[in-house]
Amino acid sequence: MFEKRRPGAVLFDRDGTLIRDVPYNGDPNRVEPMPGALEALARLRRADVPVAVVTNQSGVAKGLVSPDEMDQVNARVEELLGPFDAWAICVHDDADGCTCRKPAPGLVIRAAAVLDVSPRDCVVVGDIGRDMEAARAAGARGILVPTELTRPEEIEQAPEVADDLTDVVDRVLTDAEDPVPAGARISAPWARAMGWSRW
Ligand SMILES: [Mg+2]
Ligand SMILES: [Zn+2]
Repeated sequence: MFEKRRPGAVLFDRDGTLIRDVPYNGDPNRVEPMPGALEALARLRRADVPVAVVTNQSGVAKGLVSPDEMDQVNARVEELLGPFDAWAICVHDDADGCTCRKPAPGLVIRAAAVLDVSPRDCVVVGDIGRDMEAARAAGARGILVPTELTRPEEIEQAPEVADDLTDVVDRVLTDAEDPVPAGARISAPWARAMGWSRW
């Protein structure tokens, strides 16, 4: 029987996923959560699923956003959405050839390492193809939440597409959130090893 497992962590892209995408924003006052973001995060936190941010911030490499401004924006994100268990940030640009800028898998691998989980047990949530490619490259499950800026081919090529962040958490938590009926939980490792799903 197929059993859904609670993920080791859910790693969110920042701009266009957790907060509205304001290109190269260095102003904390312009941070605005995406619809459903706070409740989605609250549900994951209640289910004891670590949450992290994996974000490309090439505005820093381009000199459009100072490291201090970026820190202020990220602090505002936590003020509005609560604390994250890890932040993995790429401050490079395409020409830098780093291993962290999405679609490279570095941020996913780094966040998973900080959280002490395997990237294969992580879910990566983002609004563009780069996020999904980073997820695939790291061996993680990718879920695309398209916005009006997401290109049609990015939606077509996505491994999984969700309507919004509420839908993401519905997909991710299915069983983890449900109350487990008494006697239905497998507690003995030997029972699991023998393929017993139920007493
Ligand atoms: Mg984005
Ligand atoms: Zn980088």
